[in-house]
Amino acid sequence: MSKKPSQAFVALGSNLENPVFQVQQAFDELKQLPGTQLIRRSSLYCSAPVGKLDQPDFINAVALIETLLAPHDLLKALLTIEQRHGRVRESLNAPRTLDLDILLYDALHFQDTDLTLPHPRMTQRAFVLMPLMEIAPDCHIPGHGYIAPLLAACRDQQLEQIKESP
Ligand code: ADP
Ligand code: MG
Repeated sequence: MSKKPSQAFVALGSNLENPVFQVQQAFDELKQLPGTQLIRRSSLYCSAPVGKLDQPDFINAVALIETLLAPHDLLKALLTIEQRHGRVRESLNAPRTLDLDILLYDALHFQDTDLTLPHPRMTQRAFVLMPLMEIAPDCHIPGHGYIAPLLAACRDQQLEQIKESP
């Protein structure tokens, strides 16, 4: 009997070395993960940096995938894609060529040393919630509730939806 795939939302972010290209290429790399299909992708958004302010603006997006990869295998696969994009881990909120985070994996709600689900900071970040709202307006975030009021609470955060060339 074949296994039923899980649904996961992945956040993509970049603010170095042609961020639009980094994120567009990452969508293609998600499609190529084993046992994985890209179901939906959001538009690209431009956001001001958070925490460490003296760095370029970010390009952000969210993808919905269906995958046979277990949560930790998916995380490992995402970290491998980040490394292929030349990601260097300096400090929290440092500039990066590509950041791939698992926002949600089915309705899982747990934490261990490597993985926290839902992603711990997703509910306070318009640059995550707005693209997520675009592709999953009825999304429920375990432990936090539905997306709409969470996004409304972030309305002071500036975010610009950007037009992509076809
Ligand atoms: P951030 O994305 O918060 O800027 P990093 O990309 O450097 O930070 O991630 C640091 C670590 O966060 C990863 O090595 C991973 O083990 C851990 N982590 C915990 N939960 C998640 C998650 N839901 N998605 C991605 N990484 C996670
Ligand atoms: Mg990350």
